[in-house]
Amino acid sequence: MPVTLDSRLAPVIGDKSAKPLARALGIETVGDLLRHYPRRYLEIGELSPLSSLELDQHVTIMAEVRSIKKFPFGPNGRRTRTEVLVTDQTGEITLTFFAKIYALKPGDVGLFSGVVGSFRGKLQLTHPQHDPIGDRLARGVVPIYPASAAATSIFIEKCVGLCLDAVEDLPELLPDEVRSARGYADVAASFESVHRPYSVSEAMAARARFRFEEAFVIQTVLAQRRHVAAAATATARPPRPGGLRDRFVEQLPFALTEGQQEIAEVVGAELATSHPMHRLLQGEVGSGKTVVALLAMLQVVDAGGQAAMLAPTEVLAAQHHRTITSMLGDLARSGMLGGAEDATRVRLLTGSMTARARQESLLDLVTGDAGIVVGTHALIQDGVEFADLGLVVVDEQHRFGVEQRAALVDRADTRPHTLVMTATPIPRTVAMTVFGDLDVSVLAQLPAGRQPIQTNVVPIADRPAWLERAWVRVREEVARGRQAYVVVSRIGDGDAGAEESPTRSLVELHEELAGGALHGLRLGALHGRMASDEKDAVMSRFAAGEIDVLVATTVVEVGVDVPNATVMVVMDAERFGISQLHQLRGRVGRGSEPGLCLLVTSADAESPSAERLKAVASTTDGFELSRLDVSMRSEGDVLGTRQSGFRSSLRLLSVVRDEDVIVAAREVATRVVENDPTLAGEPALAAAVAALEASDGAEYLERT
Ligand code: ADP
Ligand code: MG
Repeated sequence: MPVTLDSRLAPVIGDKSAKPLARALGIETVGDLLRHYPRRYLEIGELSPLSSLELDQHVTIMAEVRSIKKFPFGPNGRRTRTEVLVTDQTGEITLTFFAKIYALKPGDVGLFSGVVGSFRGKLQLTHPQHDPIGDRLARGVVPIYPASAAATSIFIEKCVGLCLDAVEDLPELLPDEVRSARGYADVAASFESVHRPYSVSEAMAARARFRFEEAFVIQTVLAQRRHVAAAATATARPPRPGGLRDRFVEQLPFALTEGQQEIAEVVGAELATSHPMHRLLQGEVGSGKTVVALLAMLQVVDAGGQAAMLAPTEVLAAQHHRTITSMLGDLARSGMLGGAEDATRVRLLTGSMTARARQESLLDLVTGDAGIVVGTHALIQDGVEFADLGLVVVDEQHRFGVEQRAALVDRADTRPHTLVMTATPIPRTVAMTVFGDLDVSVLAQLPAGRQPIQTNVVPIADRPAWLERAWVRVREEVARGRQAYVVVSRIGDGDAGAEESPTRSLVELHEELAGGALHGLRLGALHGRMASDEKDAVMSRFAAGEIDVLVATTVVEVGVDVPNATVMVVMDAERFGISQLHQLRGRVGRGSEPGLCLLVTSADAESPSAERLKAVASTTDGFELSRLDVSMRSEGDVLGTRQSGFRSSLRLLSVVRDEDVIVAAREVATRVVENDPTLAGEPALAAAVAALEASDGAEYLERT
């Protein structure tokens, strides 16, 4: 049987070698091993920098033997310890062997693999695996693999060599014209160059090819999905002159920003066609996405359809319901006193509503009396039926499961249009990968007259008095008729780990402030474990100005909109992520008054957490912060933890750094799929696409 990428390793490299690869690195097939690319390459002559070795690291170094000393030890000194001192230009390290070593002599250059230890204050490798440079001399370059003590780089290099010599029928995923246009070698030559290069630049060129290939397969999956979606039909919802949408715009208390206008036009035009819209609206925090969504919903209602808005939390669903109802005014008072002619009705649907209220909402949805419904995941449960669902708006997507959105979209008889809104800006490349089958609009501009949010880090480790200053600022704002948020990282009514936690809980802080620094102010508390009607009551009172200071958990993180709130104090700010803090502080400075955000932290000023807080304080550009956020986390974090299949298809490609590769791959993939939608002419590519679709990772490539 010919050896292919799918072959098991044992018959090729032997059982004994296959075992450690599987156990230590999860490498099972020839393909797994050939795609286990070197971490870096050492040029012979240019030795590894010994001065930068760190304790407990597994390393492979290339170094020259300086001296060899033998010491007797053991009973009667019958055994021998050999100390080999090796050096490079930058430092030296001792190799210790509890044996006689014949294979090494001064002047030899070799590879040494082992774990860096320390003995009498000096670094050493104990019993390292060693290998003379030998044949590698002819090539001049040594690959260094991601390795472990059980499967060292030297060992992996040998196994890879056996596979390269044996493998046949390598699948060529890149169409010929793509390969020649981009100047890539064929797949066999590229594997050879990646693992057994004659120069570092040769290896780099081959890596570029495989990096592109990874992006290309993903983008082909997405291009095929877009192709299928383009063939689907939806009901066209053209605008109706003089309808609810037009009248709503007339009565808006503000002018739409240029960005809002542009996107509203694009969305309006897409709704008017019989192709289902699939659009992602990415917006800066506070840029006014809700109005854009509302315009779209009204256009659909004007055309006789219904619109559903999915919110990630009950607090947010209730708020949207409240603001939409009040913004629409008499336009939403269908069948009620003072209702406008052809007015519609806005309904709420959440899991914790009373049976009676729920029945009312459900009835209005199935009869079509409600043109707009706002809800949580309760909207996608069985028993929710629409008369004619024309548009699904998903607010604050990052909290929402892909499957849930699909559930709502799949329910309708004809495909509804879809508008997805993200709460936090995400880097373009992440959007192109994670939301790759959606068209993207960006709303970066804030409404005119917004005052910038000033953010200060308040380090209280060495300056406890500064916290007092923060509370004084809160009092000052309240004295001017403004309101404040105090955000805490945990609730504290018996939550796990509370005893050890150095942070102050909501319960503790609320009590402390009420009796101390904020004595006499009207305080409220809000957290996720409160009953829904309680939450709702607190939020309404805060929105109405009946609460001065809201002490809350991150339930206020996303979307909460109370323009009179001007100051936010975030306690234990180091516990929050960059994007989360940006999102949180977006709750203040939403009106015409400047906002102030105080990030209180007891983190050490030199620590990475303090650096993150400084970054948040230094800019209010959400796109810049999200790039930073993403670059500080691992790729896996960015893509989500469940998506192991998709992640493991990424070896060389970084969704964050490789923007140019992703953009180019997307263009090429789109063209390839347009010319050959089923990939009949590219069987190897078709197989790779099918394999990725079948992996659990494909879920993360958004499905609408
Ligand atoms: P986000 O994009 O963060 O969801 P919202 O849609 O909640 O932002 O809007 C933030 C605030 O800005 C709301 O109070 C909204 O009424 C207001 N707003 C929206 N558009 C404009 C505009 N063009 N001019 C002034 N205020 C606006
Ligand atoms: Mg919002």
